Amino acid sequence: MKHWQRAGLLFILLLITACQPQQTSQPLHQQQLFTFGTLIDITLVSNNPQQAQQAIDELSTEFDRLHELWHPWEGGALARANQQLSSSVTFATAPSVITLIQQSQQLSKQSDGLFNPAIGQLIKLWQFDQLDNESFQFQLPEPDAIKTLVHQNPRMTDIIIERSQDSEPRIHSINPSVSLDFGAFAKGVAIETMIRKLKTRNIHSALINAGGDLKVLGTKNGTPWRIGIKNPEYSPKPSSNPVLAAIDLHNEESLFTSGNYERFFEFQGQRYHHIIDPRSGYPAKGTRSVTVLAKDAGLADAASTALFIAGPKQWPDIARKMGIDHVMLVDEDNRIYLSPAMAQRIELLTTAQAIIVK
Ligand code: ADP
Ligand code: MG
Repeated sequence: MKHWQRAGLLFILLLITACQPQQTSQPLHQQQLFTFGTLIDITLVSNNPQQAQQAIDELSTEFDRLHELWHPWEGGALARANQQLSSSVTFATAPSVITLIQQSQQLSKQSDGLFNPAIGQLIKLWQFDQLDNESFQFQLPEPDAIKTLVHQNPRMTDIIIERSQDSEPRIHSINPSVSLDFGAFAKGVAIETMIRKLKTRNIHSALINAGGDLKVLGTKNGTPWRIGIKNPEYSPKPSSNPVLAAIDLHNEESLFTSGNYERFFEFQGQRYHHIIDPRSGYPAKGTRSVTVLAKDAGLADAASTALFIAGPKQWPDIARKMGIDHVMLVDEDNRIYLSPAMAQRIELLTTAQAIIVK
């Protein structure tokens, strides 16, 4: 290379370096909230500690408010709606409850009814409303009671929304066995709402994490948010890694996991976990965990539950119907299934070979 050519190259290199923005690192503000029946970790990246604290305080108040509003049994708007749904009366309810119903009607249809928040009575029959009550004596529900509820076939389309121009929307149910439980959806919708609130406050780098169900904004000072996914094995052998996989998340991506290893009760040596197959009325079989990556947190939440129930054979079909590209499913025998798009993104931290399903 001639001398002038080398000088030119050096100049171009210098120019490229000079043009790159100076990445000054901004401080992270972290706070843990106990709200929405769970621990929620909030991380904000901001140069302004006061702005960050005000944002966290607003999120805390809003999570509390939505938790009360959307709790299926304890005194808020949804609990009141549930009391009225068992009769055929038409009544007004909170606008956000109407929105949850509408969105769930669509998602339930797309999931072939596997995601079905209308099965609130089944969830209550299984006493999953008592999972946080340490002194509760769990019993198996009467098989006939399960059979009756499955036969009554409560569905989201049983709820009719009536809109008129001069008054608020009103609803009624054409099936008295409908009772709403948004346990598989509300956390996602709430996280989506909080991310929107951060953006209006001009915060564009954040992570909201409810025990592994999460959404990110922007980057962590220029690098993607790196997330670990828990190993769903019940009792990890000393050799197995408690973290199954890692994934880098980019702006506005959500990651939600449904598993059978955290919320369950034991009865006569058997475990009964909290995700119910609406077709049988019993806890879904065949799956240990499902992780879904999607932009919208509500969709990711509903889809992780639906694909858990769909299981190792049916999940690709339901994922397609729900418009989900990124899925990891771990079955009862610890086999790992990945969609092609997820295989591109995820870094497995185990020696097991994953099965890529097209
Ligand atoms: P987690 O809340 O532990 O992250 P999920 O998002 O999968 O897990 O939600 C499970 C909750 O959803 C249950 O506790 C119950 O309230 C509700 N649920 C159970 N089965 C279904 C179902 N088939 N469709 C909709 N909601 C369900
Ligand atoms: Mg869910």
